[in-house]
Amino acid sequence: MLWARELIARNAPVRNRPTPSPRECLLDKAKAAYLGLAIGDALGATVEFLTPNEIRHQIGIHSDITGGGWLRLKAGQVTDDTTMSLALGKSILTQGSVDAKAAAEAFDAWMRGKPVDIGNTVRRNLIQFRKTGNPAAPASEHDAGNGAAMRLLPIALACYGQPPETTIFSSRAQAHVTHNNALSDAACETLILMVQDLMSGHEAIDVERERAATLVQTPGFAYDKKRCDNPSGYIVDTIQAVFQSFFATENFEDCLMEVVNRGGDADTTGAIAGMLAGACYGMDSIPKRWLKALDEATSQKCTDQALALMTLAGH
Ligand code: MN
Ligand code: MN
Repeated sequence: MLWARELIARNAPVRNRPTPSPRECLLDKAKAAYLGLAIGDALGATVEFLTPNEIRHQIGIHSDITGGGWLRLKAGQVTDDTTMSLALGKSILTQGSVDAKAAAEAFDAWMRGKPVDIGNTVRRNLIQFRKTGNPAAPASEHDAGNGAAMRLLPIALACYGQPPETTIFSSRAQAHVTHNNALSDAACETLILMVQDLMSGHEAIDVERERAATLVQTPGFAYDKKRCDNPSGYIVDTIQAVFQSFFATENFEDCLMEVVNRGGDADTTGAIAGMLAGACYGMDSIPKRWLKALDEATSQKCTDQALALMTLAGH
């Protein structure tokens, strides 16, 4: 009798989690990219504008979402990087497509809502938009900040599966509202294609290394291999710190700790690195303590929008 029971137990099917379908994997990564962006923003904001030395002195290793920083944030609160992304995403969902004018109006409404922080280039060109109604800022070699790159995730999601030309057109539509600059464009387009690649599960991180290498060959974009500490808001600096952290680590947590402890524009490097790492490693890789710490309403908005944008893209 005992023998029979043992035999049955041994032959019982193992109750593993069912293997997720390709669509479930894709949506998981879209969600992880959006939550990664918000988590990187909330984590990095605490140490924004500190140098690595100041971080070591004041905190040690910065590894928890605690709020504070020069913006005196509540723990889990996010900044312009996330809230501008959400404003852009909402405009795309309302419009049913990426539209420069709708994006400009959404950013303008966002600015009227007195955000906790706002970049100089963003403010200047949104005030210009109010005067002219033209959703494309004049081209300027000085507008090479990271303000367009920090909020591009909704484009990557809404354009998922579309030809690269369509994606690039949409990228410029949103970016040029405030940053009409060749270096910013090159960075935005590379980041969007990387997010899309990573979401589709291209195992080979080498594909992304090549994309990164191509960007770095863009005239004006070259940077040396030297470690970029204290990255500024200049897009080349930002990308250097993000790529160095993303390609030198193998999971979400290490990637974000690596980038935010470099200080400087840490909420933005955190947001961009978090977006890439989320798209690459998926929801399971995001530490629970960070998911829990993120402001609940923000977390819900990011999740809802990630799924809605993927539905709009036909997935
Ligand atoms: Mn910010
Ligand atoms: Mn910032």
